[in-house]
Amino acid sequence: MTPITAPATTIPITRTVAGLRSAIADIRDGGSPVALVPTMGALHDGHLSLVARGRDAGFAPVLTIFVNPTQFGPGEDLDAYPRGEARDLALAAEVGVVLAFCPGPDEVYGDGFATTVAVAGPSGPLEGAIRPTHFAGVATVVAKLLLMARPDRLVLGQKDAQQVAVVRRMMRDLHLDDVSLDVGPIIREADGLALSSRNAYLSPDERVAATVLSRSLCAAERAVRAGTRDGREIEDIALTLLAAEPRCRPEYVALVDGDTFEPVPVLDGTATLCVAAHIGPARLIDNVILDPSAPNP
Ligand code: AMP
Repeated sequence: MTPITAPATTIPITRTVAGLRSAIADIRDGGSPVALVPTMGALHDGHLSLVARGRDAGFAPVLTIFVNPTQFGPGEDLDAYPRGEARDLALAAEVGVVLAFCPGPDEVYGDGFATTVAVAGPSGPLEGAIRPTHFAGVATVVAKLLLMARPDRLVLGQKDAQQVAVVRRMMRDLHLDDVSLDVGPIIREADGLALSSRNAYLSPDERVAATVLSRSLCAAERAVRAGTRDGREIEDIALTLLAAEPRCRPEYVALVDGDTFEPVPVLDGTATLCVAAHIGPARLIDNVILDPSAPNP
């Protein structure tokens, strides 16, 4: 007799908007508010921490897994992007996801699709300057997911700080502000590397070198604690460390306002220090929120 090994836990999956809507109506009928956690899959503890935030705040976490083609530019890693739905669903079940929405591109971008949500303002600099179509792709898909699911809460990660600013702006502008936005902190490896699905592209040597991103942010944070307030000086501290790592090709280091993404010349309130760099085949981003009023331990 063939032994039957039942999976530890399973969760309902839907691949259609109609299925999503009806499953969410059932969740609501059961009395739970819904937290939507959008991802592109290849789940790691950063993604799972967002699900846990929704769950721990009393929401039924609904996970979306969709590698959104419109947020990738020509020549970017759409085809190479890591995919593994069975593994993702097993992890999702363990952390309390009640429903997974895993549509194909045709379900999201149907025949004759012609509408784009373009957000000016925070979409302009940094990632927006280097990846000119990226944030329109992000804003469009997040708006669509919010309209498909009509959740009570959207949970995003601070890892993509500029994405948070763009989505926050879009939600205000499109009157989607009846959905609360919750932003979870960056989850890191023990050595500081921010978890990212793209870390899978790194060789062992590159993986070691990649810690330079978080080390550069920590150095800048230490300087702020020691009294540095000049924006350029703070950026230079991080950039000097990045430039000293032979495997690292820095793309930008920028101290910006966390809402507008405009430059911050002098740190006189909370601001976000953002870095982007190529390490081998991977393009990695990281950031830290700098608070000049934080105590110097
Ligand atoms: P992605 O699958 O890369 O589109 O990410 C889906 C969500 O997970 C986004 O809101 C990301 O900001 C968030 N996220 C990615 N990496 C991390 C991390 N290391 N810690 C916390 N959240 C993360």
